[in-house]
Amino acid sequence: MQKFHNISGLKNLAKELKGNENIYLGIRPYGFHSGNALVLYVYPLLLMKEMKKLGIEPKLNFFVFINDYEQAKLDGPDLLNRPFNVHPKCTTLQQKMCVEFPDIPLVDYWQRVIEFYVKLLLNTFPKINIKFVRNSEMKNYDVFKSALIKTIKNPEELAKIFKKYSKWKVPSQYALYASAVCPKCRMARGFTEITSKGNVTFQCSVCGSKHLSHYEDFDYWFYHKPLAVPRIESFKIDLCITGSDHHEEGDFEIRKALMDYFNAKVPYPKTLYTPTVFLGGRKMGKSKGNAYTIKMSRLEKVASKVDVDFLHLDGEVKRDKFLQYINNGYNKNDGKQ
Ligand SMILES: [Zn+2]
Repeated sequence: MQKFHNISGLKNLAKELKGNENIYLGIRPYGFHSGNALVLYVYPLLLMKEMKKLGIEPKLNFFVFINDYEQAKLDGPDLLNRPFNVHPKCTTLQQKMCVEFPDIPLVDYWQRVIEFYVKLLLNTFPKINIKFVRNSEMKNYDVFKSALIKTIKNPEELAKIFKKYSKWKVPSQYALYASAVCPKCRMARGFTEITSKGNVTFQCSVCGSKHLSHYEDFDYWFYHKPLAVPRIESFKIDLCITGSDHHEEGDFEIRKALMDYFNAKVPYPKTLYTPTVFLGGRKMGKSKGNAYTIKMSRLEKVASKVDVDFLHLDGEVKRDKFLQYINNGYNKNDGKQ
């Protein structure tokens, strides 16, 4: 169980790698701003450059998890102060179409963009492998199915873990970390139960319809924290690269506790935390309407000099473009419902 932070952590981590590790990267498939680029492109690049300096040839296997089971928009009793008491406002990203291209599923559109950027790593390191994996593709994996069913059955057990290892209040009466998606109206709002035979019942609170069917017949919403465990187990992950905002939430201890809770049969991976990117004094994020992208080469240069948990991009954005961005807000493909 080891964690590493920022550039100095990256340099220490590089000394411990053999070159053939399985690496975990994850993203919500709508948008690709500089905060995403730092985790999915710049840090892997800097890590491999450091390995090369040490004489280790990178033949890493990157698994880029495309989180199509993520809610398109969050809802909950208090989003600011209760990040562990959240659920979809309407539905998941998997069910959405692009606003600008209504014939194209949102996830298809953004996965293409994400693939384009992450595959740029191959230009410098052609011996690495990059695999993109959607949650929905993992639905029938044994470990995924078992974690999802356990999460649907025991939300209050997960709430206890979140409460124990984070600074947030987690009232168990609001605990909900997975649900089915309504086969009729495609909303992820309703009451999901697992029957004694292992089938799924779903009562939709939007259209009122009731459904009883096999697990395989439904799509799902699955909260990202428990979801990480079957990913790690299925692909024998050695190292996770993720933003330090997750570390602030208690992610490192929570993930360990969740791996124990789900009886994961693999060792706990190392974790490299990257700085959180800020613009205009606010954390960069699609869901926060604060997203911007600067040139990759520029981002690499800035990131290689910053060894704290925060990376402010204000000085890198041209004043006129920044003002234009502030005036216009984020683009239209933000998964609005
Ligand atoms: Zn419905």
